[in-house]
Amino acid sequence: MAKSQSEGNSQQESFGTAKVYINNAQSILNKATGFIDYYDFTLNPYRGCQYGCSYCYAAAFSPNSKMRQDWGNWVIIKKNAVEILEKELQKWQNKNPDKPASIYMSSVTDPYQPIESKQMLTRSLLETMVKYQPILVIQTRSPLIAKDVDILQQFQRLRINMSIPTGSEQVRKDFEPRTPSISARLKAIETLRYSIPYQKDRDIRFSVTITPLLPTFPEHQIEFIRKLEIVDRVVIQEFHATQTRSLVAGTRQEAETIKQKYSWWYDNERVNYLKFKENLVSLLSDIEIKEGKEGFGFE
Ligand code: SF4
Repeated sequence: MAKSQSEGNSQQESFGTAKVYINNAQSILNKATGFIDYYDFTLNPYRGCQYGCSYCYAAAFSPNSKMRQDWGNWVIIKKNAVEILEKELQKWQNKNPDKPASIYMSSVTDPYQPIESKQMLTRSLLETMVKYQPILVIQTRSPLIAKDVDILQQFQRLRINMSIPTGSEQVRKDFEPRTPSISARLKAIETLRYSIPYQKDRDIRFSVTITPLLPTFPEHQIEFIRKLEIVDRVVIQEFHATQTRSLVAGTRQEAETIKQKYSWWYDNERVNYLKFKENLVSLLSDIEIKEGKEGFGFE
């Protein structure tokens, strides 16, 4: 296949509609900041994300403005990620023999986006991590994660966060048309929950993150919320503020346009958010309900 260059990344091929670049990363564990500063590090196996959600704040961290505009249509594979991770975890262990690193995977990509089915980079990183037993949080909206249950069940401290920002399939199709269906995500988290047997020396937890909460038709709310009984935590959050400056996280303009279709929700956004939250609290009384940053910690 023809090769071309984009900002120092050599294009090797395409995967679906995405251009695929391969690059060497300088580091793979990066200091966690902002809403995930509970953790020592973030880990992003890929750069870019094929899901291309309309509201994704991570687009702000694209290599250049052209790629930012083209968010969702490219992905960079960090070729040397496993090798670097091994070195970085070894270094941490030498310095902190009694304190496992805490890692949030991932902050600006989805570790289980479609290319993972071919590349299996996230899987290889898990194989490395399991030897060091970090405190690990995996954030994804992909049922592909279920393929790694054999490795996931070897972790001692793991939280799996499944992103499901709406209970209405039509809303999902409008705001994030390339992502897996709501039912596929619910099924994946349920499969993981029941496939990983309880053991008293192991702490494996499951969350659904409704972040940001997208419109959910009143007739879907109760049924959706009841399906969340399979997890131990539900996290909600309002929409990020709109931002267009590079390297500043914010909602993309694309989402602002889609929001106009849902004026029945956004004209009273705060009220609708609070009503949804009230439903969560009353219907899921045995489940931890957290808001915003507080919901992203391990504990
Ligand atoms: S899955 Fe996450 S990282 Fe990927 S485009 Fe959607 S919000 Fe952004």
